Amino acid sequence: MRLSRLSARVGPSGTMAADDRLQRLRAAGRDVVSLGAGQLDFETPAPVARAGTEAIAHGITRYTPVAGTLALRRAVRDKFERENGLVFGDDQVIVGAGAKAVVFHALLALVDPDDAVIVPAPAWPSYGSMVTVAGGRTVSAALSAAEGYRLTPAALRGALAAAGGCARGVILNSPHNPTGALMSREAYAAIAPIVREAGLWVISDEIYEHLVYDGTFTSFAALDGMGARTLTVNGVSKAFAMTGWRIGYAGGPAELIQAMEALQSHTSGNPSSISQHAAEAALRLCVAGDAEMAAERRRFQDALVARRDLACRILGGIPGVTLVRPAGAFYVFADVSRHFGRTLAGRRVAGSADLADLLMEQAGVAVVPGQVFGDDRGVRVSFAASPGELTVALDRLAQALA
Ligand code: PMP
Ligand code: GLU
Repeated sequence: MRLSRLSARVGPSGTMAADDRLQRLRAAGRDVVSLGAGQLDFETPAPVARAGTEAIAHGITRYTPVAGTLALRRAVRDKFERENGLVFGDDQVIVGAGAKAVVFHALLALVDPDDAVIVPAPAWPSYGSMVTVAGGRTVSAALSAAEGYRLTPAALRGALAAAGGCARGVILNSPHNPTGALMSREAYAAIAPIVREAGLWVISDEIYEHLVYDGTFTSFAALDGMGARTLTVNGVSKAFAMTGWRIGYAGGPAELIQAMEALQSHTSGNPSSISQHAAEAALRLCVAGDAEMAAERRRFQDALVARRDLACRILGGIPGVTLVRPAGAFYVFADVSRHFGRTLAGRRVAGSADLADLLMEQAGVAVVPGQVFGDDRGVRVSFAASPGELTVALDRLAQALA
């Protein structure tokens, strides 16, 4: 069959591909511990799951408005106002089938052919692929371990220069996938004037907002003058262990939301009515400080802090591996480049893909190669695994590199 040129240019998601490969090996009976996952291993909190079941029992099973039910959009508005200090009208929020779909529709609404979009790198791989689908091109702003993987004014200016006057927007992501870096208010304040001067729109992907261990979370749109040019994207996947429910949302300028809604009306249409009902419960209970919900979230938080510390301790003790301690999300981006050029288990390791292959095939540990994120020096280790799995997997990794 003759496939489009576009489909040849946009391969499968590298983060998803790593997981598919792991499932295939496991199905073949291999013992592989996964530190590749981009999701928590916790169950969706009980009151949220109950809301989902209730939606089915009560016949909340039909189409809803394309942008989401009014009740959920109101819950989203309240969340933005109470937790982020962002005030939106009903026509300034949209709900989609995951933050992924929300970012995609935003890019389709914002990007014209040959527009450059600045993406700090390493980066979640879907940003670049979605910019490509939208007809634009990605210009990287280099994040470095020396700067704690935070976006600096110099890196942003460098990307603007590289875009040669074609930069239209920038995608921010804090806490950051794959490094766990958190942008402080001061760090954002340092780049905001550059964003304003260059006339950029901003997509601020805040999907890991609720997973912060050190420091304070800041919404970019809350900075002076940034609200009018920023789309704030968030979702329930990571905050409430709801990756399978597929609900993401965004708040921003009404004309952008309207354009995204029009596009969404031709793609997914409304996100699942059942999931919307559950997401509404999650946001309402969270904002209201419901005791059961708060206890579940504390449990997530305590477990993740302990796992982060465990992961950093073991990884940091492996010779030739360096890391920046993540302040949020559930990933460590470990620089393993000092091992490149070595021959391990009879195989020459030229870069992160070779190393991830070797770890998966020989050592029985799945990690995601940095190449997928546009930084070949590292591998992404997810600590959203049980302490037992983490210890076994990281010991295997240490042995493979010994
Ligand atoms: N943004 C980032 C940075 C992510 O890591 C993910 C994880 N898949 C998403 C967006 C999308 O999340 P979801 O579609 O599950 O809401
Ligand atoms: N965001 C997760 C990850 O980076 C899930 C996979 C994906 O959506 O790309 O692994």
